Amino acid sequence: MTNHALAPIPAARYGERIDRAREAMTRHDAAALLLGVGADLVYLTGYAAIPLERLTMLVIGRRGVPSLVVPRLEAMAAARWPAAASGRVTIVPWDETDDAHALVAGRLEAAGSAGAGAARGSMLVSGDLWAMHVLALRAALPGRRFGLATTVLRELRMTKGPEEVDRLRLAALAADRVVASIAAGRLVGRTEAEVAREVRDRLVAEGHEVGKFSIVASGPNSASPHHDASDRVIQPGDPIVLDIGGTLDGYGSDITRMLWVTGGDPAKGPTPEFLRIFGLVRDAHAAATAAVRPGVSCEAVDAAARRVISAGGHGPEFLHRVGHGIGLEGHEDPYLVAGNAEPLREGYAFSIEPGVYVAGRHGVRIEDIVVCGADGPIVLNEAPRDLLVVAG
Ligand code: ZN
Ligand code: ZN
Repeated sequence: MTNHALAPIPAARYGERIDRAREAMTRHDAAALLLGVGADLVYLTGYAAIPLERLTMLVIGRRGVPSLVVPRLEAMAAARWPAAASGRVTIVPWDETDDAHALVAGRLEAAGSAGAGAARGSMLVSGDLWAMHVLALRAALPGRRFGLATTVLRELRMTKGPEEVDRLRLAALAADRVVASIAAGRLVGRTEAEVAREVRDRLVAEGHEVGKFSIVASGPNSASPHHDASDRVIQPGDPIVLDIGGTLDGYGSDITRMLWVTGGDPAKGPTPEFLRIFGLVRDAHAAATAAVRPGVSCEAVDAAARRVISAGGHGPEFLHRVGHGIGLEGHEDPYLVAGNAEPLREGYAFSIEPGVYVAGRHGVRIEDIVVCGADGPIVLNEAPRDLLVVAG
């Protein structure tokens, strides 16, 4: 699915990515990348396949054109995607009675990565490859060391190119519009689940392929960070954590804004205690965002938010890391969490989403998607971060 505001990612880009993956393989002493259906495959070929029990696998060995091993019934679909259509990978179909894992081992022999006389080195599989495939590959490649392809691909995938940032921005702005329309619509008297369904529909109407998640956490439910939208009926005097996202041309959106529903009754406005917590989270969000620049560690961004919330007396109620990478996956490297000392680099994209959750009462979270620019943060979401006090 493509969005009309976006030019397609050119086939040459996939060629560059494959070349850089090969360079990284050499640095990490990897004999092969074995990538099943998922984000790694999309990143290197553009092929967004559905995960099924039949093996689909990009095989990148030490030399030669990479092979895309696919069930014959998928071959025509696979050949349409940029890397295959431009000859940068070769489609290798297998038939229903073939041993697909043995076929992969054969391609690795042809590429100088397996078999008699081949140099050693790890077989690196994508992290979301099903165990049934991993075990069959182990059996087909006896004695070989296996590892995760993330080792080789994470640096490439963390550093977003201009086309990827364009997609993340369009996704963010689309999600912004959905937040605005939900805040402007009717809320009182509807269930969280009804509003969540509307969110998903609106994400699609705004250009997403799919609305992947829609947290509508009202009243005391707002204290549960990953609350499942329930049959609770939204009432005047409720705070609402609205945390929504999906994918647009493959790239994720993820935004959280806070609503307060009055029902038009001035006596049902936000409580002083809630406003104090909201102010803390908003300040923590601003501090973490301001900390973003190349060379600053991931954990320092987390600490910038945590310092503000701890000083306000709610440190233990900031239950989660301040953010996660985002791209072809909704959660991916880098993770902005204590203990992760790796430095941010230009082009990294991630969420900044501090929160405070007071069990049984209320919770607050504010979330934007941010790209690390050369001189500081590039914030992709433009929706106001104020508390949205609405009649509902
Ligand atoms: Zn979120
Ligand atoms: Zn998030």
